[in-house]
Amino acid sequence: MKQALIGSQQKSVDSIMACRSLIDKRYPNHLRLTAGLAHAMISGLSPKEETQVMPLSIGDDSSSRSLLVWEKYKDKQLKVDRDTRIDQAAMEWLIAVSNGVTYCIKFSGNFHKKHFYTSTKKPENVQAEYDKLDAIKDDTARWLAAQEAADEVKFRKQLAHRTRKEQDCGTCGHPAGDHPASGACAKVTQSIGPTGKMKNGKPERGPIFTPCTCVKYAPPYAEKRGGMQGKPSVNPLVGATTAGANDVIWMDKIPRAHFEKVIVAAIQKRMSELKNTGKSWGEGDVSGDKAEHVEWDFGANHRGCILKIDQKTSLADAKAKNYSSVEVLMKLDDTDAKKPVFTACHLDGKKTK
Ligand SMILES: [Zn+2]
Ligand SMILES: [Zn+2]
Repeated sequence: MKQALIGSQQKSVDSIMACRSLIDKRYPNHLRLTAGLAHAMISGLSPKEETQVMPLSIGDDSSSRSLLVWEKYKDKQLKVDRDTRIDQAAMEWLIAVSNGVTYCIKFSGNFHKKHFYTSTKKPENVQAEYDKLDAIKDDTARWLAAQEAADEVKFRKQLAHRTRKEQDCGTCGHPAGDHPASGACAKVTQSIGPTGKMKNGKPERGPIFTPCTCVKYAPPYAEKRGGMQGKPSVNPLVGATTAGANDVIWMDKIPRAHFEKVIVAAIQKRMSELKNTGKSWGEGDVSGDKAEHVEWDFGANHRGCILKIDQKTSLADAKAKNYSSVEVLMKLDDTDAKKPVFTACHLDGKKTK
């Protein structure tokens, strides 16, 4: 809930903010004094309501965060409208290149959910971390540290969505690969026991094959998203299990225009290399995917925008590695001269630098 302030009240907010450090000393509670809280003091709202307006320094419309598209869905548990990323199949970036040529960038193989990470947009999560960090005396530093801590929690949670624990079938415990088309489980377990036949007058023992009786793939991650929350894209990470590290691109940290420029430059660099050797896109790819490795190099000004993380890596350590470049496998799915379609399908973590 927010209330508009009349002119004189806004002046009071401004003057409160001007003597912020004094007020922080006088009201040593766990709330960060923000314009929102000052607003609450003036308007008579409870400070709790006003914690909603604490500013998060997440990427705005000019950051690559805005390249991701969210859609509204009704959360079945919380009974509120919330945002979720649209399905990967519907995601496409149109980047104007030159002379009327537009590159259409698409994604497959869970690429966009696996590798594009964004800072938390939940102020309540940041506030919770802020409350734990009272050892940091400078308020701005404390708030920034809280935001980083909340992002670390979010990133680890996202990594956990790719573990066998969340991706194996919750009914039978077998992986997605054992459930063709997410239907009945095809796993047959072999064991040794009575075969039901008799041999030399005794029940025979031998290999027994027991088909799994599970009729539908139901991993905990999808059950939560689809069944409990009602998200339209039920399992954007199906089949993408990992126990180890993941390489992620921190979208808030890269300006959108720069990201687009980097992709175009990476494609064009590879094109000119191919041209020099008389080859076409994907000609040398023996896997049949007809893909090429291109390097998305975000440059020295964006060191730390690529994170190699696992459940034990702190965000601070991951940032300190200063990675700013990844190698991405891209297919050329439509060779239309005016609007070629390139699909990013894999990121090779060994090439991150
Ligand atoms: Zn099974
Ligand atoms: Zn199953």
